[in-house]
Amino acid sequence: MKKVVVVGGGLAGLITAYILARKKVPVVLIEKKQYPFHRVCGEYISNETVPFLKSLNLFPSDFQPPHIDQLQLTSVSGREAIIPLDLGGFGISRYVFDHFIYQKCVEAGVQCQINTEAESILFQNDQFEIKTNRQTHTADVVIGSFGKRSKLDANLQRGFLKKRSPYVGVKYHIRTQHPANRIALHNFKDGYCGISNVEEGKSTLCYLTHRDNVKRFGNLPEMEKQILYRNPYLKKLFTESEFLWERPEVINEISFATKAPVENHILMCGDAAGMITPLCGNGMAIAMHAAKILSEVVSGYCEEKISREKMEATYQQQWNDHFARRLWAGRQIQQLFGSEWTSNLAVDLARYVKPAANYLVKSTHGQPF
Ligand SMILES: Cc1cc2nc3c(=O)[nH]c(=O)nc-3n(C[C@H](O)[C@H](O)[C@H](O)COP(=O)(O)OP(=O)(O)OC[C@H]3O[C@@H](n4cnc5c(N)ncnc54)[C@H](O)[C@@H]3O)c2cc1C
Repeated sequence: MKKVVVVGGGLAGLITAYILARKKVPVVLIEKKQYPFHRVCGEYISNETVPFLKSLNLFPSDFQPPHIDQLQLTSVSGREAIIPLDLGGFGISRYVFDHFIYQKCVEAGVQCQINTEAESILFQNDQFEIKTNRQTHTADVVIGSFGKRSKLDANLQRGFLKKRSPYVGVKYHIRTQHPANRIALHNFKDGYCGISNVEEGKSTLCYLTHRDNVKRFGNLPEMEKQILYRNPYLKKLFTESEFLWERPEVINEISFATKAPVENHILMCGDAAGMITPLCGNGMAIAMHAAKILSEVVSGYCEEKISREKMEATYQQQWNDHFARRLWAGRQIQQLFGSEWTSNLAVDLARYVKPAANYLVKSTHGQPF
C-alpha cells in the first residue's frame, strides 16, 4: 500500500488527510504546532463549502456558527455601502474549527505527529524522505500544505520568495455590537480590516496592513490610532469593544504571488499552492476545494489506477482550472482598496451599480462543491 505524508495541518492538510484515511490510505500528518491554536484569519467561510463539509460529516453545526448574508463596505474616509451576499457564509474561529477537524482525523486513523516540524523533503528514486525535528519518514506521496510561508519554501528554493512582500496580518477576538448576519470590510490607508462573528457571540477583527504603516509609528497600537481610526467605523470598533486577548496574533510577509501547485513532485495544497487576497474571504474555501480535488487524484495513484506523471499533471490542470482566475481577480480587486479615492469609488460602485458589485463578489467566489 502506498504511503502519504501530509506536511502542515491547516484546513488544506487536515481535510486531505481525513479523506485519504477514510479511503484506507495510510497517512501521516505532520504539524509543527499543537491544537487548538489561534491563527491570523478573518474566520468567514463561504457557503460554497457547506455541501462538501456536510457530505464528510465535517460541518461544525454543534458550535452554531452564525449565518452571514450581508456585506458592509466602508471607504478610508467612512463612506458606506451595504450589499446582500447571494451565497453568503458562516463564521467559526480557526481555534475551534481546526481542532474539530483534527479530532475527526484522529478518529479516522490519520497518524498525527503534532508539535513536529518538517525540516526537509527530498525526492529520490521515486520515494520521498521527510526529515522532521524528531524522526525521518519515507513516503510515496508528499502533500505540501504548509501554508502561505514556511521554512520549507526556502529549503525548496521556491520562486515566490525572491520578492519580499510588504503585507502584515493582525487578528483579535473581541466582544462588540456587530450584527450576526454581517461581514464588514473597512478600508484604511494601505490596508483593510474585516469584522464578522464566530461562535459564542464573539467577533473576529482581522486586518491587513503595509509594513511601512507599522514602521512609521513603531508599534501596532499607535499605528491603529493614527491610521485605522481615521475611518470612523474603525475608531468606534477599537474604542468601544472589549478586546479578549492581551496581544493580537500577527504574521508578516504575506505574499499573493503566483506559486506552482506541484514542485519537486510535492503536491501543494491550500495557501502553499497559491493564496487569494483576504478581502475575498475565500482562502479557506479554496483550501478545502483543493483538498477535495487532490485527495481524489492521490487515491487514484495509491490504488495504482494512474501513474505519478498523470497524478501530477491532472492535479496541476485542475488546480489552474478551478482557482487561477479567482486568485488573479482577488489581486485586481485588492488594488481598489487602501486608498481614499479608489475605496470611495469601490463603495460608490457597490452602492449605485449593484450588478457591478455582484460581479466583483462572484468573480472571486466559486460554486458550491
Ligand atoms: C489577514 C488574513 C485574513 C484572512 N481571512 C480569511 C477569511 O475571512 N476567510 C477565508 O476563507 N480565508 C481567509 N484568509 C485566508 C485563509 O486563512 C487561508 O487561505 C487558509 O488558512 C489556508 O489554509 P492552509 O491549510 O493552506 O494553511 P494554514 O491554515 O496556514 O496551515 C498551514 C499549517 O502548516 C503548518 N506548518 C508550516 N510549516 C510547517 C513545517 N515545516 N512542518 C510542519 N508544519 C508546518 C503551520 O503551523 C500551519 O498549521 C485570511 C488570510 C489572512 C492572512
